[in-house]
Amino acid sequence: LRRSRHDRELRGRAAKVIPGGMYGHMLANERTMPPSFPQFWARGEGAHTWDADGNRYVDFLCAFGPMLLGHRNPLVDDAASRQAAMGDTLSGPSPRMVELAELLTSAIGHADWAMFAKNGTDATSTAVRIARAATGRTKLLKAAVAYHGANDWFTPRYAGVTPQDRANIVEFAYNDPASLEAAAAAHDGDVAAIIVAPFRHDAFVAQEPVDPAFARAARALATRIGAVLVLDEVRTGFRLDVRGAWEGLGVRPDMTAFSKALANGYPIAALVGADALRAAASEIYVTGSFWYSAVPMAAAIATVQHAIEIDAPALMKEPGERFRAGLEAQGDRYGLPVRLTGPVQMPLLIFADDPDKSTAFAFTDAAARRGVLLHPWHNMFLSTAHTVELVDEVLTLTDAAFAEVAAARRAGS
Ligand code: PMP
Repeated sequence: LRRSRHDRELRGRAAKVIPGGMYGHMLANERTMPPSFPQFWARGEGAHTWDADGNRYVDFLCAFGPMLLGHRNPLVDDAASRQAAMGDTLSGPSPRMVELAELLTSAIGHADWAMFAKNGTDATSTAVRIARAATGRTKLLKAAVAYHGANDWFTPRYAGVTPQDRANIVEFAYNDPASLEAAAAAHDGDVAAIIVAPFRHDAFVAQEPVDPAFARAARALATRIGAVLVLDEVRTGFRLDVRGAWEGLGVRPDMTAFSKALANGYPIAALVGADALRAAASEIYVTGSFWYSAVPMAAAIATVQHAIEIDAPALMKEPGERFRAGLEAQGDRYGLPVRLTGPVQMPLLIFADDPDKSTAFAFTDAAARRGVLLHPWHNMFLSTAHTVELVDEVLTLTDAAFAEVAAARRAGS
């Protein structure tokens, strides 16, 4: 039986001491999430997570990306514990920092150097600052809607932000080389950087793979106009290709931002870049009290080494394909056609004829009550702990969830 008493009580207490009760992408209220979604979480283990009331779910959110190797992966947690026993935040960096930089520069195709921070926004902001320092220019080209962080110029909400903060952002349409060219031409001579995600992963809409011709066009344009090409792998890192998401296309960015999955849940971000930007990267001033902490770096070393060893992106393919094919077949069978768009390691549910997302909310609500944590409008994440066997268990639960929604539709509710 599902319980939610403790979650409700925590929400009541949070409403008094936390603005809005919760904020950012973690806000789970009746507008953002289906009614049965909990706000508070107690623990995780492998592919499972438990809410504050002890209800267990198969976790297809994976903390919105960080859990690459499953919650509490023993390899990563052991490396973190060993480092924690020696010290975490010391009066300067530990040897782990050099080891991690060496690992990333050897693993990531285009990387000659690495810098570390805490969150994805730190990494994308640092990339922009380096690009501006290197070029002496101001404009930043980004795809319309694309999320690259929560700072003053990237944030999708305008409360508390001035028009001046956003004045140097120029938007283009993802996968549209002509619109990218036009955006650059409109600011001829003043484009510092083009920042782009490896594929189109905006919320609420179908995800789109990158058109290789667009990736090549972005690379060629940046080179031609002397701008810096930044790949934002904060969300995709180590789930698509451990060498870098566009390495298989033969398209190398000048810098790549990582965070989320880099240390399997430990707080760290990385910005890696090519030699041509080394001088600018040494010139800027960026730092943070916790940016040099050793535990997340030890965790990152273990995570990246293991992800490479097992080829994490490849390992998630079969379970991911089974999950996608299974859900799509069930949707068709119950007259609730659904497509899982994007790479199978990070799929997004799109129901047919569902502009207000009511079907997505109803289905993910029914799934959550059965112990499957899906998302109605954001891309989900698999981890290497999501096995084929587990996906098969999940599919029996989602079958029941589809049956419930289909029955409710027939009853006209
Ligand atoms: N870029 C992308 C593509 C992201 O998905 C996110 C986080 N959702 C960010 C940047 C910002 O990362 P963070 O929330 O860790 O600052």
